[in-house]
Amino acid sequence: MTGLEHLRADFPVLRREIGGKPVHFLDSAASSQKPVSVLEAMDEFYRCCYANVHRGAYTLSVESTDRYEAARTRVASFINAPDPDQVVFVRGATSALNLIAHGWGGTHLRAGDRILLTEMEHHANLVPWQMVAARTGARLDFIPLTPEYRLDLEVFEDKLDDDVAVVGVTGMSNVLGTIPPIPRIAEAAKGVGALVVVDGAQLVPHQPVDVQSLGADFLVFSAHKMLGPTGIGALWGRPERLEEMEPYEGGGEMIADVQLHSSTWAAIPHRFEAGTPPIVEAVGFAAAIDYLEKVGMDQIAAHDADLTGYALDRLAQVPQLSVYGPAGVEGRGGVISFTLADVHPHDLATILDQHGVSVRAGHHCAKPLMRHLCVPATARASFYLYNTRADVDALVAALGTASDLFGVG
Ligand code: PLP
Repeated sequence: MTGLEHLRADFPVLRREIGGKPVHFLDSAASSQKPVSVLEAMDEFYRCCYANVHRGAYTLSVESTDRYEAARTRVASFINAPDPDQVVFVRGATSALNLIAHGWGGTHLRAGDRILLTEMEHHANLVPWQMVAARTGARLDFIPLTPEYRLDLEVFEDKLDDDVAVVGVTGMSNVLGTIPPIPRIAEAAKGVGALVVVDGAQLVPHQPVDVQSLGADFLVFSAHKMLGPTGIGALWGRPERLEEMEPYEGGGEMIADVQLHSSTWAAIPHRFEAGTPPIVEAVGFAAAIDYLEKVGMDQIAAHDADLTGYALDRLAQVPQLSVYGPAGVEGRGGVISFTLADVHPHDLATILDQHGVSVRAGHHCAKPLMRHLCVPATARASFYLYNTRADVDALVAALGTASDLFGVG
């Protein structure tokens, strides 16, 4: 990517050294680093115009409300949503998926309905559906993976029938990097009248996403994985589906009227935003989107693909390293899970850290997928716009040192 050194200078944490070595941050799939513009936007907002939103007639509150609602418009335009009111601010992808499962599923699912998920879902797109299935009598079913770590679309199509009420699928696996063909899946799911829920936590930060061509009913994502702060994310929904959804949390600001024994709801999206919302975080989210769009989402996707291809080639040379995920960059993102011989991934990650290489180790909140892969855990390197081939080289060099240390090879 052109101007990469210049871009890296925008991320103060990348100047850190760990154990006297430059930091090679390869854990953006868990949470990304933040550019100065995001930090400054939040700091400036606290200093100049902070007040609670939607409550005051005074200037600060009006300004604060305007900035909060402008952030909603910014998020909507980022995913090409036709109307900002189709965007609900939530705590993150997890709370969005809970809202959909409980708020839509809790009132629409019936005994015998099927909720069709994939075997590679993050727990955030699995556990809420398990909870609502237990309450409603709906059943869970799963789209399996092919030996190439892609979704088995033939089995998916075989499983689709009129009992399928929900199809929930990740936009990009946080373990395998697999990117399923969402428009094709959505179109087939629509054919049987199923609700299509896309967990965009990994996809939206890395590729241009247009909800008008995606085919989904709901798309969710978290700001902290796309240069923004923690504590905020977005739920986009088709207006008719949002209308069908019951609020999951009650409280201030989400009501039209409250009597002692009953209440009526505010308009969408406010009925889903009970209590004081993440105001400053919304300002940071908008600044993060400004940054991403300045670089260009196509550029970011191309950069991810370049690094992923380079890393897959280099990692293939490391003896006794197993990589879990599609072999090429086609239909896969910049997330690479691996194990080294029988070295426990936590031990491996600890050694890599001693060389300044930050990777995640564990089950990555995808325990059923770990069982499918027959491993308790993996180590995982993930890339973003600020990573370089030098980060990949540092990872490969550190893996060499780890191999020597553990007597592998
Ligand atoms: N879905 C996927 C695919 C993820 O990778 C994650 C986080 O790692 C989540 C959902 C949950 O996101 P959050 O923790 O921001 O709610």
